[in-house]
Amino acid sequence: MRSFDELLQESSAIHGHHCAGQVLGVRMAMLGCREVGIDEPKGCKKLIVYVEMDRCATDAVQAVTGCSLGKRTLKFLDYGKMAATFVNTETPQAVRVLARDDARALAPVYVQDATSPREAQKQAYRIMPEDALFSVTPVSLRVPAQEMPGYRGDRVQCGACGEGINYHREVRVNGRTLCIPCAQGGLLPNGNGIGKMETLPKVLLIVGYKKVGKTTLIEKLIPELSNRGYRVGTVKHHHSDFPASFDTAGTDTWRHRQAGASSVALASQNLTLR
Ligand SMILES: [Zn+2]
Ligand SMILES: [Zn+2]
Repeated sequence: MRSFDELLQESSAIHGHHCAGQVLGVRMAMLGCREVGIDEPKGCKKLIVYVEMDRCATDAVQAVTGCSLGKRTLKFLDYGKMAATFVNTETPQAVRVLARDDARALAPVYVQDATSPREAQKQAYRIMPEDALFSVTPVSLRVPAQEMPGYRGDRVQCGACGEGINYHREVRVNGRTLCIPCAQGGLLPNGNGIGKMETLPKVLLIVGYKKVGKTTLIEKLIPELSNRGYRVGTVKHHHSDFPASFDTAGTDTWRHRQAGASSVALASQNLTLR
């Protein structure tokens, strides 16, 4: 493995500036590689790294290991933790390296004459012992075949947005094959460009005999769901194509609206009123 200073210089150049995160990330990557028996990570083709943060240190881990999203050797777990798991897919050794929370507070103990707390961290992280900076946990982890670089799988189409989905990231919902954003909400293209959060509505069916309390239950559910941040619409099923009244005082649809439904519809086999 090349020297710390050499790796730090290269990493800071790729990252765009020299910061405490670079020092931490370079040391984290050097430690992780060493723990899984990889001396020269770049181009070795047996190292996979799962990073749990999208911070400065992530760039350093990428710079030192040569792992990248595009090569499928860098995996991003959006946990917001300053940690990375290094996997030697051949042996297979794996360790999770976590930056210790107390390292930050310890920095002034190692560097007393720094001009700022950030500067103290930057300098201290260079010289602090590894066990003061990180905790290392061996983990049992076999990378699934479909997560390995070079894996080829069928591409399927999302039943809602029509876009292609690779690497078995599709999910099945009520018998439909959907992409993750269509099924669970997420960033989806819309008329105004990428960025609007869209979700398929969740459907709740209330079925029961006459006068058992369906509407009473719905009247309680609507405010409860609204309080939890859902926008609730209701569809009342009607057995006749010719309802006597819709949305007038006392009817079920009226009660739904009184309970706070943002839209109310009445549907029967051949007729829909909104
Ligand atoms: Zn930075
Ligand atoms: Zn979709």
